[in-house]
Amino acid sequence: MADIIPLENVPLAGYSTFRCGGPARFFAEPSNGDEVASLFRWADEKGLDVFVLGNGSNCLISDDGFEGLVIRIARNMSELSSAEMNGGSVKVTAGAGLPFARFGNYCAELSLTGAEFACGIPGSCGGAVFMNAGAYGGETKDFVSRVNYWDGKDICYIDGDQCGFGYRTSLFEKLNAEGKTAVILGFEAVLPKGSKEEITGLVDDLRIRRTASQPLDVPSAGSTFKRPEGYFAAKLIEEAGLKGFALDDSGAQVSPKHAGFIVNNGGKAKASDVLRLIDYVVEKVFVNSGVRLEKEVRLVGNFGV
Ligand SMILES: Cc1cc2nc3c(=O)[nH]c(=O)nc-3n(C[C@H](O)[C@H](O)[C@H](O)COP(=O)(O)OP(=O)(O)OC[C@H]3O[C@@H](n4cnc5c(N)ncnc54)[C@H](O)[C@@H]3O)c2cc1C
Repeated sequence: MADIIPLENVPLAGYSTFRCGGPARFFAEPSNGDEVASLFRWADEKGLDVFVLGNGSNCLISDDGFEGLVIRIARNMSELSSAEMNGGSVKVTAGAGLPFARFGNYCAELSLTGAEFACGIPGSCGGAVFMNAGAYGGETKDFVSRVNYWDGKDICYIDGDQCGFGYRTSLFEKLNAEGKTAVILGFEAVLPKGSKEEITGLVDDLRIRRTASQPLDVPSAGSTFKRPEGYFAAKLIEEAGLKGFALDDSGAQVSPKHAGFIVNNGGKAKASDVLRLIDYVVEKVFVNSGVRLEKEVRLVGNFGV
């Protein structure tokens, strides 16, 4: 039995920025790798599936919830520290549960450059590594020098250049797709010092650009679709006449502010409403442009597909 006792029947909508979805049959927020390991053992003994959740800012959780154990890597694993290195760079160590924006702000406070883009991304540090989150020309892979993760047997350490980072993917995402276990516990990042004024100026500038172009006051999971090679998803959706489009009054809508975001107005749409709209957009864009959009948002639980 895990030292940490999973809770039963925990609603997940509040743990997803889409603000929809059903409950987790079991739910736990571990504090370290040992607790992660014992939770996996516990689930294994009971024959339960496990889903690792970060801040839920890239997930659409099924209305039926998750019929297994959700392990949420969040505030209990949010350590943050830094150490000067030879040559003037600084090594920042972050727990996987730390908000990625907090990591970005901390780097800015230390006058470290390269993580300014992170300040506007509402995920966890673990989720950022898993997805290789990026914005405005920066990517998580640019500064991650080492990741520690639990592989189902051991706590492992791997250098950043071995992490298989690509556009919204990583070794961890690929292992996950193969049904293998890889729970990110934290990372180390190496960043050079820069001009404090330029760094805070860039952070402010990116915040202004984001606020002007994205529907940040409405529940969503950010960009719903990956950027297709040679195109922009939002532009293709707009060209298909779908900016601001809704199938019905469920609350699910293609954002009138940014066509790349599907939003959940008033948090009243069900996950099935959101997915129905996603599928509709994919088909309509394909008919209009010949490009098949791929979801960036990850589906959690059973959608009957
Ligand atoms: C308003 C808004 C703006 C956004 N802007 C951007 C942007 O500019 N750029 C961008 O890249 N993304 C953006 N996103 C999407 C999202 O914030 C990122 O994908 C983020 O990295 C997801 O992190 P998370 O902790 O929320 O992950 P979750 O949504 O919780 O999970 C995403 C995936 O990562 C896995 N995962 C999470 N944590 C771990 C862990 N510790 N170990 C193993 N697997 C894990 C989960 O199993 C899941 O498969 C935005 C989202 C919103 C709502």
